[in-house]
Amino acid sequence: MQGLMMEQPLLVASLLVHAERHHGAQEIVSRRVEGDIHRYRYRDLAQRARRMANALAGLGVQPGERVATLAWNGYRHMEVYFAASGSGAVLHTLNPRLHVEQLAYIIDHAEDRVVFFDLTFLPLIESVASRVKSAQIFVAMTDRANMPETHSLSTKLLCYEDLIDANSDVFDWPLLDENSASSLCYTSGTTGNPKGVLYSHRSTVLHTYAAALPDSLNCSARDSILPVVPMFHVNAWGLPYIACMVGAKLVFPGPALDGESLYELIETEQVTLSAGVPTVWQGLLAHVDALGRAFSSMRRTVIGGAPCPTAMAAAFQERHGVDVLHAWGMTELSPVGTVCSLKAHQLTLPQADRYAVQAKQGRAVFGIDMKIAGPDGEELPWDGNATGDLLVRGPWVTRQYFGCDDESPLRDGWFPTGDVAKIDRDGFMQITDRSKDVIKSGGEWISSVEIENVAYLHPKVTAAVCIGARHSKWDERPLLVVVKKPDSALTQDELLAFFDGRVAKWWTPDAVVFVESVPYGATGKVLKHRLREQFADYFLPN
Ligand code: ADP
Repeated sequence: MQGLMMEQPLLVASLLVHAERHHGAQEIVSRRVEGDIHRYRYRDLAQRARRMANALAGLGVQPGERVATLAWNGYRHMEVYFAASGSGAVLHTLNPRLHVEQLAYIIDHAEDRVVFFDLTFLPLIESVASRVKSAQIFVAMTDRANMPETHSLSTKLLCYEDLIDANSDVFDWPLLDENSASSLCYTSGTTGNPKGVLYSHRSTVLHTYAAALPDSLNCSARDSILPVVPMFHVNAWGLPYIACMVGAKLVFPGPALDGESLYELIETEQVTLSAGVPTVWQGLLAHVDALGRAFSSMRRTVIGGAPCPTAMAAAFQERHGVDVLHAWGMTELSPVGTVCSLKAHQLTLPQADRYAVQAKQGRAVFGIDMKIAGPDGEELPWDGNATGDLLVRGPWVTRQYFGCDDESPLRDGWFPTGDVAKIDRDGFMQITDRSKDVIKSGGEWISSVEIENVAYLHPKVTAAVCIGARHSKWDERPLLVVVKKPDSALTQDELLAFFDGRVAKWWTPDAVVFVESVPYGATGKVLKHRLREQFADYFLPN
């Protein structure tokens, strides 16, 4: 047919080409593992990514082969992002918080050819190297002067800056099939064995468009973006790609994720938008509040990966004038699924009602469709009450795990998220639990998340986790595991009384256990199953 549009494939490299041509002078600032601050511009990023693409070709990396990274958020990591995906290889980001055995399993499962790593992770790489068969080359992401002494890797170890220096910056990004693979990320394994999710060029670019929208993460050329969420966790929620698309300044925190370091970076680089899991923001807020500081530039923060407690949203918004964007997603969704941007009629709601909306995970961004289903798969109404399994579909939702060709996770074309949710009339979805975290008391569901939310409102609570413990009469009853604020006296009775009027009487936990700390997994989420194992029989007679 005449008069149609150009057939240009949607490719990851095109984001970099755009950033170089249209935002070449925009800055990328990184706190390095070496301790100092590094700054350069998009045009430097693009030039070095081309050098690295030539280096990968020189190392014999073929199209479709996996190139792994074990690295913090920083400019060299970003260069490998584009060098690998742009040249037709598959970027595989490894999570350094995983156990060495799990890492070795993932590297071999993905058949990674080359592993790039930050110096921090040398001991990990040394242990992994002897366990893996696939990876033959390890690249230390540093310069010659900082190259480590290591005997176990002697024949396989290369220096990143040597590769950059030795290769030309002339490289034509190939015209790939937009449906070919661009990157690979394994789910963090809070549920069973890690599974690989393979993103395509097309899914990545479409996700980038959608995630940048005003009612999504709301990113523009006027932003200075601090992705605290790691680049090894679902591509830092897509922010490196989004920043290229919109021409935003990027600020990378490297390994320094404590409140003091983050605050310093936010202020010196005049960060306007940050993104991370609630655990990280707890540290930042504690630091800022303890010193009585304020944010001079930060206007918005994206909180996701785990529920954002209302107390945290209130602290950011009321004390610091920072808008909270509560978002929900999954590795399998690239990851953005819903974002809690208010609709016009919600702006004038009384404060308490607005917080009730903000506690929800939000509405679907265009591209994602969602529904909730009952036990027999029947679709449930969007009335804000009916609760069921959350299912999604869309062009950046996985249809199959990497290397599992004969099994599909889909149900009639929908991906079951493993989350349990309700959806209100405005289309705002609220996670009430992960399916296996739901507490079933006398056949009725109790939302562990809602109980935790209440506990977090208590001023003497630092961390709260609600689990179902076996009960002779009710099958399960809620048990609240709590870490107290340092030096504060808090009793079980005081905390349980706090639930009066805040949740239904039968939802109030039967008991509180005070602990020194709760276990966190590789992506900063509480490992509830560990606590469930530890306290499974808490209510049963000995
Ligand atoms: P994993 O499933 O391995 O933990 P993901 O990082 O992909 O890895 O986590 C996705 C899950 O995290 C979701 O299915 C959901 O249970 C939880 N999650 C993500 N964002 C939120 C949020 N804003 N509120 C509640 N839960 C969330």
